Amino acid sequence: MTQAENKVLLIYTGGTIGMGRNPATGALEPLDFNHLRDNVPEMKYIKASIDIYQFEQPIDSSDIDTATWAKLVRIINENYQVYTGFVILHGTDTMAYTASALSFMLENLTKPVILTGSQLPIGQLRTDGKENLVTSIELASLTDDKGRALIPEVCIYFSGKVLRGNRATKQNADEFNAFNTFNYPHLCEAGINFTFHFHHILKPDFSKPMIPHVDLNPNIIVFSLFPGIQENVVHHLIDAPELRGIILRSYGSGNAPQQPWLIHLLCEATERGVCVVNISQCVAGRVEMGRYNTGFQLKDAGVISGYDSTVEAATTKLMYLYARYDDVNIIRRLMNESIAGEISPSTAYLSEE
Ligand code: ASP
Repeated sequence: MTQAENKVLLIYTGGTIGMGRNPATGALEPLDFNHLRDNVPEMKYIKASIDIYQFEQPIDSSDIDTATWAKLVRIINENYQVYTGFVILHGTDTMAYTASALSFMLENLTKPVILTGSQLPIGQLRTDGKENLVTSIELASLTDDKGRALIPEVCIYFSGKVLRGNRATKQNADEFNAFNTFNYPHLCEAGINFTFHFHHILKPDFSKPMIPHVDLNPNIIVFSLFPGIQENVVHHLIDAPELRGIILRSYGSGNAPQQPWLIHLLCEATERGVCVVNISQCVAGRVEMGRYNTGFQLKDAGVISGYDSTVEAATTKLMYLYARYDDVNIIRRLMNESIAGEISPSTAYLSEE
């Protein structure tokens, strides 16, 4: 592993890590990068050289939108040749969505793009921000003896773990251990040493260029089933003419109530070219629509399996595919394939430990 001459671009979007208290309201609000730098004097000990790109107006990540993702893709693309890796400082609330979106928008990525942030602002005594920031920069700067990135994918680094970005979910609003990948092993653990799990890390074709994509079609809805769900409400939702894709959050291994009206509405939607993807409400495990009759009916209605996808990955993948393809059959096929390591259509990887 080498690091001395490597360069990292640190992109500061906002989030708790760089926030301070508004003296009038007491609420946390985003501050500029100088505040962050003043609180991390340790940054000068990092061997890699670091440049900063600061968003003019740092934001709480609840305000992240598709235009912000396109902006991040443009920044990375314009600086791609110059830097060994990229670190994005981002609020935790929507970090898993941004990580998922970028994993699709940066096709054939061969460099690390590591998102991190913190649960406590960097100016607070017990902050987790310093370790998250310093370790992310170090990870983004690491290359092998051929100069190739050790983690050439979009990741989240948080609380000692490197996680595949499009497998991650925010699991805790209070603890430092804010993220996990319930359906995929960690890529690396940062203890006294880094322990890389190389067989779980993507292996891109380093001879091919990275292809940036900035267009997304956000006419998607995430819709969660619950006992007592009403036909009229669902009817209005599914009838929206702009609607392109539905993430259906089903029960357990992909099951839904057997009311004929629900199956009928889903059938109508799929016939209209809406792609309906079945994602379980469980955080771990996978959709298997053939396991119970209540899942089989969904399959018959044209609903496709999201396998072990997170909601964040399925939502952003649909946005990406609808912007790229007009033919819904291509979109349905690609939703069933892993295009950036986001799903495991088979469980083979589990035996590769
Ligand atoms: N609301 C903050 C944000 O997502 C929370 C955080 O950064 O942890 O920007």
